[in-house]
Amino acid sequence: MNDKKNEEKSKSALLKEKLFVQKKHGCRKAGAETVAKADEFCEAYKTFLDNAKTEREAVAYSVKAAEKAGFTEYDNKKSYKPGDRVYVNNRNKALILAVIGKNGTHNGVRLGIAHIDSPRLDLKPNPLYESNDLAMFKTHYYGGIKKYQWPCVLLALHGTVAFKDGRTINVRIGDEENEPGFCVTDLLPHLAVEQMSNVMTKAFNGEHLNVLIGSRPFGEDEESESVKLNVLNFLFEKYGMTEEDFLSADLTLVPAAKARDLGFDRSMIGAYGHDDKVCAYPALMAALDTEIPERTVITVLVDREEIGSDGNTGMKSTFTADFIADLAIAEGEETRHVLAKSTCLSADVNAAFDPTYASAYEANNSSYINSGAVITKYTGSGGKYSTSDASAEFMAEIRRILDDAGVIWQTGELGKVDGGGGGTIAKFVANLNADVVDLGVPVLSMHAPMEVVSKLDVYMTYRALYEFYNAK
Ligand code: MN
Ligand code: MN
Repeated sequence: MNDKKNEEKSKSALLKEKLFVQKKHGCRKAGAETVAKADEFCEAYKTFLDNAKTEREAVAYSVKAAEKAGFTEYDNKKSYKPGDRVYVNNRNKALILAVIGKNGTHNGVRLGIAHIDSPRLDLKPNPLYESNDLAMFKTHYYGGIKKYQWPCVLLALHGTVAFKDGRTINVRIGDEENEPGFCVTDLLPHLAVEQMSNVMTKAFNGEHLNVLIGSRPFGEDEESESVKLNVLNFLFEKYGMTEEDFLSADLTLVPAAKARDLGFDRSMIGAYGHDDKVCAYPALMAALDTEIPERTVITVLVDREEIGSDGNTGMKSTFTADFIADLAIAEGEETRHVLAKSTCLSADVNAAFDPTYASAYEANNSSYINSGAVITKYTGSGGKYSTSDASAEFMAEIRRILDDAGVIWQTGELGKVDGGGGGTIAKFVANLNADVVDLGVPVLSMHAPMEVVSKLDVYMTYRALYEFYNAK
């Protein structure tokens, strides 16, 4: 009786194994050796994060790493052979890395595209003012933020100032312990009766995001605005800039904190800007590690994704297609034929299931921390608006590539169907007439000053991109 029952149980267990999607903790699937590799990979990723809080810094870091790995600046007058490695720096805010394949562009190219901009507080063009003996910056937030998350967070000032004489300087102050930081203030709870009774969008609006930057006056004279003058005097002495130079500057306030391991087991990383450096770094590493692929491999680190991809350094710009055209033409191919045969992993994050906010998610179609790289067939909102939807055939190809290489992956939608929504650069790539699907890292607290990812998922995203780049 007992034996028969066990036999039946094992028969259905076997059938389950064959027919069901296998649910097992990603760390068990991966094994200790792979988990150790993920931890090692993420040590370098944390260094990247601390040095790439803005798109400009991400480009500078990536160019340096690429040059060290044998990439040279692309020259459309030169001809290239399989294994050659080139890059195109678009205005120091976006970057293309290409490794020429055995078949060049003939069968299409393989694209990996991630964005290197993250939500933050940009300075307004006329930012500096004094009010009640305090010097402040007016900011204009960039990207989708929950404004209440930004007061009382230590901030650092990053960016570039361009002068009329052609000089540019890079600014980076507030990240190091011995440097001064900045912050947005908040109202004390004792006086916040009205504020706390507001809905969140009213309690904190864009004009509340003023940054405290100084409080002492300049000199002894009883001049007006002498606290503002003191700040300008500091800026002039340190950077040679005057108030008008703010007009030709890209300056932004970002969280000052460095990337940190999270959890007693150090399995996760808490940091600013995982979205989408957590895919940009794996894409960069996959490009650097690719030697002679079958098809030409093109990695693009784009800017402007967080505000809709508009602008000359974003995905709606023609610069990526123009570069593919340059390669195609040099090889005697028609660009439109190359694009039609091209495939792309749009490497971007997805929302990881958060048990504290479980009601925002649909558990069967969410991505989970430690379950590997997440493939998102479509994003968008409502009835699949504003998104491309990867074809069944292309999904099958990606499944094959990842499974054959033992990459741990999962699938997920962005929360409940009518819960909101969002998009990635995938639809702009699809509009070029290429095949594309989103693949990336699940993130907790997305767009917050500190976002959370798992180390295993970061490594699996690298593995996925590498295997895609090097597939036959
Ligand atoms: Mn993103
Ligand atoms: Mn985002």
